[in-house]
Amino acid sequence: MSEPTAHRVTRGSALRNGSRNGTDAEHAPVVRCVDVSRVYNRGGSSSRFGLFGSRRRHTVTALDDVSLRIESGEFVGLAGPSGSGKSTLLHLLCGLDAPTFGRVELLGQNTRNLSDGERAALRLDHVGIVFQRFYLLPTLSARANVALPLVERGVPRSERRRRATSRLEAVGLGDRASHRPSELSGGEQQRVAVARALIGDPDLLIADEPTGELDTATGHRVVDLLAGLATDRAVVVASHDEAVLERTDRVIRLHDGRIVDE
Ligand code: ADP
Repeated sequence: MSEPTAHRVTRGSALRNGSRNGTDAEHAPVVRCVDVSRVYNRGGSSSRFGLFGSRRRHTVTALDDVSLRIESGEFVGLAGPSGSGKSTLLHLLCGLDAPTFGRVELLGQNTRNLSDGERAALRLDHVGIVFQRFYLLPTLSARANVALPLVERGVPRSERRRRATSRLEAVGLGDRASHRPSELSGGEQQRVAVARALIGDPDLLIADEPTGELDTATGHRVVDLLAGLATDRAVVVASHDEAVLERTDRVIRLHDGRIVDE
């Protein structure tokens, strides 16, 4: 059982062994990648390539033989220059996409064996996502924004309201529930987005550059909030900001689609 450790940065090499300590944990990790590659086709429809060798297929290997595991209770940073494969990895971790080679196990389920619908259901039930640009609906109150994912799940209105209010309280915005996004600061809007990501009580919370639109002090408060949420779930935060990465338990660093040592 991994313990939520003090904030520190560890090297990527242990990750490539598929385990933090080189041995298999007793329980399934929240997410595991085994020899994962993701290759994109570029330059038109792939079905028109290769038949007679007249046009070369142009492929991009966005992720190249990546292995890692992330346990519940971990707050993990994801770093790397633009184009290094961070977004591709995040999409694979949360089941938005499946690998070309290798396997991604989300809550013990190989995402490649699932249909699009099954992957969507797994994501809905177990994954929360926070984006750089908040993506709140401007015409809805903070509470209605937070409750929105529950509409898709057919949760009755009164229950939606109750749960959304409790998530807003958890991020310190209980008194802002009726406000629209335009009446909130950037930091408050991002906390609403975090509350929305928490509405399904996810096992995996993914934040893609969550402080990119915020000033430094506000960004740090959002990161502190995310750190506090990595108790009975895993939290993965992709960031260019070393000050953000320093607050995580460990950092996965990508370069040209591979995990690299620092
Ligand atoms: P990052 O998030 O670190 O900026 P990405 O995962 O977006 O990196 O991209 C990794 C590489 O894969 C880049 O070379 C990018 O151009 C390429 N790539 C990403 N998505 C696609 C796609 N849908 N089609 C083709 N190439 C892609």
